[in-house]
Amino acid sequence: MTAARARNGPDSCPGVLRTHGALDGELARIRLPGGRLCADQLAVAAQVAEEWGDGHIELTSRGNLQLRGLTDSDAAGQALLAAGLGSPGAADTVRNIVASPLAGRIGGHGGVDETVTELDKKLRGGAAQGLSGRFLFGVDDGRGDILAHRPDVVSRWRPDGGADLIVADHTVGTVARPDAAAALLTVAEAFADVRGSAWRIRELDEPARTALLVGVVERLDPGESDGAPCDITDGLADTPALVGWLPQDDGAVMLGALTPAGRLPARTAEFLAAVNAPILVTARREILLADLSAPVADTVLRVLAPMGLVFDADSPWTLLSCCAGAPGCAKSHTDVRADVAAHLAIHPVEQREHWVGCSRGCGSPTTAHIRVQAQPDGTYLRMPT
Ligand code: SF4
Repeated sequence: MTAARARNGPDSCPGVLRTHGALDGELARIRLPGGRLCADQLAVAAQVAEEWGDGHIELTSRGNLQLRGLTDSDAAGQALLAAGLGSPGAADTVRNIVASPLAGRIGGHGGVDETVTELDKKLRGGAAQGLSGRFLFGVDDGRGDILAHRPDVVSRWRPDGGADLIVADHTVGTVARPDAAAALLTVAEAFADVRGSAWRIRELDEPARTALLVGVVERLDPGESDGAPCDITDGLADTPALVGWLPQDDGAVMLGALTPAGRLPARTAEFLAAVNAPILVTARREILLADLSAPVADTVLRVLAPMGLVFDADSPWTLLSCCAGAPGCAKSHTDVRADVAAHLAIHPVEQREHWVGCSRGCGSPTTAHIRVQAQPDGTYLRMPT
């Protein structure tokens, strides 16, 4: 089996200890399993951003955090590790898990936290170490929000209590939910054995991908499969932005917020942490505070909205995202964030747009959008994607 798309050079995805040298200093990426983190961990990330970074926390398109401009990446990394925000060695960068943010609280077919925690624990323990830092696991509570991000392998809750196993957009069978984490790892390990220079399953050529899918069916013997993988690409769609007051099924309140250009000031993060509620970061760069009483949620809104957090579901920021651009990224033709802010000041935004500083298109949504791509002369080209 061979990979169709050869990558040039080794995978250099940053983690908390293996940082990336950007133009504005070292960059650390903090992988949050399923976007979940506790208040104490956010407080530590904010402290690190203030002490050694540029004073901000970036939210990424995989529901992770990034710290930029680190002046002492070793000290920063050790502080993050001590807070449980990373893992030593190669295990850190393979912990790429996205999970339905509303699971267990609003709709869906049940909570996903047990599966996410078990999967993360096994990855921290050394499972699937042959993966690249780009491979993506997903746990979808049945609403399809995680499928829309096109992970390499997804466990999707079924209404009957089981879980579909979906590999590169193909359903290969069904497993019991307690077996979901192990099934996800089995697929990842099967891919790691054959991936060659491919980082994602989608990068395998067609015969190799088909052989992998059939091999997974044989290895797991997941029920309800005739051995012919079923394509689920049709119907994948974006779900509404999780912004504002979101009533939970148990009567509590979840608050959803956006931060302009996905950049959260450390000072604002400290206020978020002080609420002392469960925090979820989504793959659309939303920040959710869960399990709030109505009076607490009301207070949070009144304190944090004036600090720049966006709680308005009609805000143009629900339709806009962008890459880091200059001055941090050496490849960028322009200061993308500044250009987005200037554009927003005079133009309405009616469709989903993702602005990027070069053709690499970092952080692009997997659903339909307009890519607004900077050109070498500093102008932008709008391209439906
Ligand atoms: S899209 Fe280009 S300019 Fe933007 S962060 Fe990626 S490499 Fe840099």
